[in-house]
Amino acid sequence: MKKHVVGIDIGGTKLATVVADNSGKILSKVRRPTFADKGSEYAIQLLFEMVDETITKANLKQEAISGIGVSCGGPLDTKTGIVYSPPNLPGWDAFPLKTRLETEFQIPATIENDANASALAEYRFGGGRGYNTVLYMTMSTGIGGGIVINGQIFHGANDSAGEVGHQILLPNGPLCGCGKHGCLEAICSGPAIARRAKEAIQKQSNTTILALADGHIETVKSEHVLAAARQGDALALKLIDETAYYMGWGIANLVNILNPDIVLLGTIAIAAGDLLLQPIRKTVSDFAMARPAEAVKIMPAQLGESLGDLATIALVV
Ligand SMILES: [Zn+2]
Repeated sequence: MKKHVVGIDIGGTKLATVVADNSGKILSKVRRPTFADKGSEYAIQLLFEMVDETITKANLKQEAISGIGVSCGGPLDTKTGIVYSPPNLPGWDAFPLKTRLETEFQIPATIENDANASALAEYRFGGGRGYNTVLYMTMSTGIGGGIVINGQIFHGANDSAGEVGHQILLPNGPLCGCGKHGCLEAICSGPAIARRAKEAIQKQSNTTILALADGHIETVKSEHVLAAARQGDALALKLIDETAYYMGWGIANLVNILNPDIVLLGTIAIAAGDLLLQPIRKTVSDFAMARPAEAVKIMPAQLGESLGDLATIALVV
């Protein structure tokens, strides 16, 4: 009986493969560095070996596997399974990932961008369980997102739905990685929080943020801002409030459009907890329309470190 699945997580620094049973329980894992500079052919050969090794480690044969779920940085086409030059994977230009895996293993493969796969994992196994309309937003090096409606990822016309971080809030604001100015991501991602902190410290150096970063302004990160805010540092608290204001503004726009049951926020929001979530909730209730604002819960995502593995599995169980 085919009661097991394979999951493949392709990141810019790490490749991970897992085997799970059909309830999502992970039975074996293999991890290797991506060596992104070696390109797609190197990576696919390595993945073939890793998948075999993971199946063997789970004491299974390939015949026991019903599907392969792949979470990868976008852009990609979920229908054809072609990956188009993700920024963290140089040399993956129009790479036929789905076809290569299906040809090698003779097992159907499902390819999905990592934010969408994460949203589905939160819906299946995490904070989104039991809700019909789930919006998941990452909050780390970028601000990505995934929308799950009635158990299905909402893809849009060409797999571009859920780019929640590239809504423009400040047209004359900071330059974003996408080439536009003032996107939510350019204001509230981890690097953007660090950049705002550095700018603020240059004007006002009386802050514990600097001491937490060993006295070097160049090494200031969003974690230092959070730690300083927890100690009651005024500048750090101002930076957190500002972050919550823009996050809340962006989420309020999405709440009006999608009317979600729940918005789940990842990474930085998990680390910050109510320090960030409470002022975000306040801004959402100020900015969103009353009815959708009343319905929505804004919560930290739940899957933490297992998210990457479960994101791949959620696609095929
Ligand atoms: Zn942008």
